[in-house]
Amino acid sequence: MKIGGFQKNSLIDFPETIACVVFTVGCNFICPYCHNPELVSTTEIKKNAIQIKEEEIFFFLEKRKKLVDGVVITGGEPTLHKDLENFCFKIKNMGYLVKLDTNGTNPLVLKNLIQKQLLDFIAMDIKTSLKAYFLVAGKKINTELIKESIELIIEKAPLYEFRTTCVRPYINKKIIFDIGEMIKGASNYILQQCSTNVKVLNPEFLKNQKRFFSNKEMIELKILVQKNVKKCLIR
Ligand code: SF4
Repeated sequence: MKIGGFQKNSLIDFPETIACVVFTVGCNFICPYCHNPELVSTTEIKKNAIQIKEEEIFFFLEKRKKLVDGVVITGGEPTLHKDLENFCFKIKNMGYLVKLDTNGTNPLVLKNLIQKQLLDFIAMDIKTSLKAYFLVAGKKINTELIKESIELIIEKAPLYEFRTTCVRPYINKKIIFDIGEMIKGASNYILQQCSTNVKVLNPEFLKNQKRFFSNKEMIELKILVQKNVKKCLIR
């Protein structure tokens, strides 16, 4: 695994679990609001060239068995890494819970990990309506894969959440309604406000204040989608 970051403690990344967070390098999307440009932009990756050895992480996990309950694997896009299965296997073998964050472009990888019971929680980003995905991802993508991942997760994932970063023009009332149809029957859906004043992949993109939703507008979006899912929260 190419690992570009490691956070030893987090109370917010894995629901009801004290976890550490592993950040994998590389992504197949270039979302302008991405908060981890050093893991996504090829120039930033080269510039930083941070590589954390897997052994360092396993050494830490061995020592912290009584203090940490889970490991979040995030990115970047972790499913791009061929040795993800092996990595999850080793972590599970040590007795930890595993949460995977994904953009949902690799349903086959997800299916394999679910079948082998290597994941305890999956968080999948839903970027926008399927028609507009290429705008956020920065390139044409096969949206059938996104649909497959959604169906697979609803049907087979042990615990999961879908989540959307709400920022214009990728999200509006019509699009959130369409997303609600896409994830109909899901257990958890999170609407996230896009943070300001953080380092992002395309800083120009967030200079336009009109892209952000107010608290009141976030509630309006929630009302449009909450009937389709069991639990809907604004985070
Ligand atoms: S937000 Fe997620 S999917 Fe988008 S570029 Fe960043 S890591 Fe990749």
